[in-house]
Amino acid sequence: MGESTVEPEYRFFEVVRGYVERAAGLIGLPDHVRDMLSEPKNELIVHFPVVMDDGKMRMFKGYRIQHNNILGPYKGGMRFHVSVSLDDLKALGAMMTWKCALMGIPFGGAKGGVKCDTRAISHDELRRITRRFTHALGSNIGPSYDIPAPDVGTNAQVMVWMMDTYMNSTGNVTKNAQRAVVTGKTVTCGGSLGREKATSQGVVHCITEWAKEHRFDLEGKTAIIQGFGNVGCNASLLLAKLGVSTIAIGDHSGYLRHDEGFNAHKVGDHVRTHGSIANYPHGSVISREDFFATPADIFIPAALENQVGEAEANALTVSLIAEGANGPLNPKGEEILAQRGIPVIPDILANSGGVTVSYYEWVQNLRSERWDLEEVDGRLEKAMTEAYQRVMYVARERKIDPRLAAYSIAMENLGTAYAERGIFP
Ligand code: NAD
Repeated sequence: MGESTVEPEYRFFEVVRGYVERAAGLIGLPDHVRDMLSEPKNELIVHFPVVMDDGKMRMFKGYRIQHNNILGPYKGGMRFHVSVSLDDLKALGAMMTWKCALMGIPFGGAKGGVKCDTRAISHDELRRITRRFTHALGSNIGPSYDIPAPDVGTNAQVMVWMMDTYMNSTGNVTKNAQRAVVTGKTVTCGGSLGREKATSQGVVHCITEWAKEHRFDLEGKTAIIQGFGNVGCNASLLLAKLGVSTIAIGDHSGYLRHDEGFNAHKVGDHVRTHGSIANYPHGSVISREDFFATPADIFIPAALENQVGEAEANALTVSLIAEGANGPLNPKGEEILAQRGIPVIPDILANSGGVTVSYYEWVQNLRSERWDLEEVDGRLEKAMTEAYQRVMYVARERKIDPRLAAYSIAMENLGTAYAERGIFP
């Protein structure tokens, strides 16, 4: 099966627009609102120079897509990856708009990033790229305008560099008021307790709700997880606490199976030290094809979009898919899973725990407060449980799949805001 099974010329934004069309038709969204939501408000592309470790200067290309801000400031991750493209970021930015609208968070949607191979650059180079990129974005980001967060290839350290660069370009007197310009920071530098695991925690709350609904005892069950970065690793750790063992994992370097269950702490340490799961001393190496065919109870995609196409969807032998990643199923894969009756908890619901706790971090920064972990976790659990119930209720009532239900709820909220505010002037 190899790396190239899934659509090579994938047009992610078209796929997301397809969902919008369906949801808009279903809820009778006025055409002009659908049209406004079909394109990002702003598409920024910046080119900037960075001095590399060998003393040579290299040019980089950075992006920020500001999809929509009717419900609040633009909000969304920064992705540093070789595959970063305008089309993908437009899709991901739009999904942030739906996610915040679904969760009732007063934010809009955005996404950005830098096209670069983070595995081929040093720590110092990453810092310089981050700072020059932030400088190039200038006042196009800001605590009440557009608030970045981590995504693939970025982490709390990258967010702290962004924050520091932004703070230092705004003048001494207002400097400290700018902390909320990014979320997902380290706790010492103004991040929120519970943010690191928040996306995975949200995924696991959805799985728990699904299990309750289907009288499915999670204790003793198994999971397979694609992607072992922030979302994949934390999901594995949290599932272990519920008695679910992760028996197959994969990342850009390959796939491993271990029927006894992986120790997520140890795999996480290995990934932090070596950059991938390659050469992890436990489990056996399997092919990508075998990974998708590994019988298990739950599959969590936690890598990139467009990972589950026709072959993968036919191979999967699981009872539930919870989308940690954004857009992991392509339309063909999704169609096959629907035919096979395998339930999918859709991305804009399942992985919205990340932006939910980012919102809590932003509120804490603005109020100069520090919430304890119980408070953050408690609020997140309530938010995720309610959102899950709302989506499944609409899915049942309207006899539609949960993805369409989630999109419909989000679109209804956005449609109401446009109806109430009207179009300026
Ligand atoms: P990360 O950079 O921490 O991890 C990404 C993982 O994907 C790594 O293990 C990497 O090796 C793997 N990967 C990359 N290319 C791959 C390939 N071709 N095949 C298999 N695996 C591959 O990123 P993350 O923050 O964990 O994000 C993962 C997914 O979750 C993305 O879709 C992201 O948009 C989504 N997400 C993240 C957050 C968050 O808070 N970090 C929130 C919501 C959604």
